[in-house]
Amino acid sequence: MSFASSCSFAVLAAFALAAPVATAQAAAAATNPTETHGIAVANMDPSVKPGDNFYLYANGGWIARTEIPADRAGLGVFTILGDRSNKNVAAIIEEAAKSSAPAGSSARKIADLYNAFMDEQHIDSLGLKPLQPHLAAIAAIHSQRDLAVALGQTLRADVDLLNNAVFSTPNLFGLWVAPGFQDSEHYIPYLLQGGLEMPSRSYYLDGSDRMKEIRAKYATHVAAMLRLAGFDDADARAARVIALEHAIAEQHIPLADIEDISKANNLWTRADFTAKAPGLDWFAYFDAAGLGSQQQFMVWTPTALTAESALVASTSIDTWKDWLAYHLIENYAAVLPHDVAAEQFSFFGTAMSGVTQQQPRWRLGVGMVNAYLGDAVGQIYAQKYFSPQAKAQAQAMVANLIAAYHKRLAALPWLADSTRAEAQAKLDTLYIGIGYPDHWMDYSSYEVRPDDAFGNAWRAGLWKYHYWLARIGQPVDRKAWTMEPQTVNAVNLPLQNALSFPAAILQPPFFDPQAPAAANYGAIGAIIGHEISHTFDAEGSAFDSKGRVRNWWTPADHAHFEEQAEKLEKQYDAYEPFPGLHVNGKQTIDENIADLGGISAAYDAYHASLGGKEAPVEDGFAGDQQFYIAFGQDWGSKAREAALRRQVLTDAHSPAQFRCDTVRNADAWYKAFNVQPGQTLYLPEDERVRIW
Ligand SMILES: [Zn+2]
Repeated sequence: MSFASSCSFAVLAAFALAAPVATAQAAAAATNPTETHGIAVANMDPSVKPGDNFYLYANGGWIARTEIPADRAGLGVFTILGDRSNKNVAAIIEEAAKSSAPAGSSARKIADLYNAFMDEQHIDSLGLKPLQPHLAAIAAIHSQRDLAVALGQTLRADVDLLNNAVFSTPNLFGLWVAPGFQDSEHYIPYLLQGGLEMPSRSYYLDGSDRMKEIRAKYATHVAAMLRLAGFDDADARAARVIALEHAIAEQHIPLADIEDISKANNLWTRADFTAKAPGLDWFAYFDAAGLGSQQQFMVWTPTALTAESALVASTSIDTWKDWLAYHLIENYAAVLPHDVAAEQFSFFGTAMSGVTQQQPRWRLGVGMVNAYLGDAVGQIYAQKYFSPQAKAQAQAMVANLIAAYHKRLAALPWLADSTRAEAQAKLDTLYIGIGYPDHWMDYSSYEVRPDDAFGNAWRAGLWKYHYWLARIGQPVDRKAWTMEPQTVNAVNLPLQNALSFPAAILQPPFFDPQAPAAANYGAIGAIIGHEISHTFDAEGSAFDSKGRVRNWWTPADHAHFEEQAEKLEKQYDAYEPFPGLHVNGKQTIDENIADLGGISAAYDAYHASLGGKEAPVEDGFAGDQQFYIAFGQDWGSKAREAALRRQVLTDAHSPAQFRCDTVRNADAWYKAFNVQPGQTLYLPEDERVRIW
């Protein structure tokens, strides 16, 4: 799992509305991290008692003086660093454009991809011409077999079930190619439920007034998109498309259950699909998807797959054709004329996330280059912005974190000896990538044209799909990355028993080679600790030291873990960001446990790094105070109500404020800030959760 929710760039719909970066003004509003090293005192609110609201204590000053720009759903450390990374990437693109690099080179592709997207006049002048061959193919569907072929042609490698947590695709199903559950030495295809344009089933099924209002706006939006695509009778078509999506949503597995590995471990042969999931012409579907000779698949959501297959047969072909046409225009809106992109933004940006103004075009262009040529940019980025010294220092922190976990595991009273031994073995074989990967992707077969924004996007999806198809059956590269160096995030890859910390997250305020150890361990140390803890949490317990799916916990270990997890679930269930809307303790449990493990191990590693010396006092704050404030400042953020509501419903991560409140489970935090009974965050000792 990744450390923070990552925007899915798999579909252009997400690309157009995702807001992964802050504006330059917003970044400037935060304390300039290059001027100070360590905790940002100016961002705190000393009038708040740490025990009453630690989040405001650590971030209140920044929150009070920060406005969310009109083109953003929210703002925080992640977005500010994302902005810095984007500016750096923009500079790389600019340089590539000036370099007159030869055709076919990465630099030429970077420049052409960006310039084609920036040429709005040309995109507008083409109108819907780029869509016409695809719309004509949809119009030519006359049989169930034709329909299966068309659906198969839409399959893309656009979900990621264990690494980057991308659980939704607007296509009928999503494909993920990854090491097998049984044979982690080889890649195998995984299939996931799909078919919805809105982010999750809740948007279709939830009975709240807010969701009803969004659904009403969605109906208007789908009709508008169909009208833009040239369809008559758009309202009636939209109603049928939405009814179909509603029927699909009813069969979808909720997010809280989708991470349950035991339910996902279903190996189906080709023949199983027809027998277990009748309806869709599976052979035609797989042939069209280029998977005609693939004999085995992992089916992640079998009940949803079965139900969706049945819907293919029971819903009229005409409705499916409209569904295909609507999904086509929605998924590629960003590279279509202005009126189409604007209509998409009015729903997905404004109605759904509360953002009133589209981001500047250049920033969307940078996002596209990152999405389609991420490694080509990343290679240059890593060279320019991540020094060997920073890499060495981050690696030393990682070594201290690993040592801290070894000690904690050795001392945990509730682990059986056999479990302890396997957990230690997992730590020993864990591959931790710092900054950038050892090998880079080769984009030579991805064709980019300087005057074809739509085609570039279309071919990018296909290129990535074929890249992954070619890996099926091949030996697994345990050191492969799934995140670019320029991404501000971190990720655990359980089937590879590996972690990655991209260069872009190893920056101030998360990581600063010149900051005191307390600040670095509190900020990035807790993040590194978070990812390591996924190695042996509920998810990690399903994968052994070789990345195979093998439960290496005893029933007693599980019982204790569940009991503690339940306590933590209740803690988060009680958080209520808006009246009537609670954090879902079950949906967020894995991430909350990782936050708890991360801060515990980082605290130990910090103290070990002092080597017995007294921690220096900085700005009047003792070492432990700096440590916890730095952790609290990881979470400084502001979000629009609509965006926050969306996160509560769809994200495996709790909202930032509540991730900050993890501290109330740490005894040392009480001591550091003299937190007393009666203060809001105070928990009696027996209610503090200790897992790792
Ligand atoms: Zn995580």
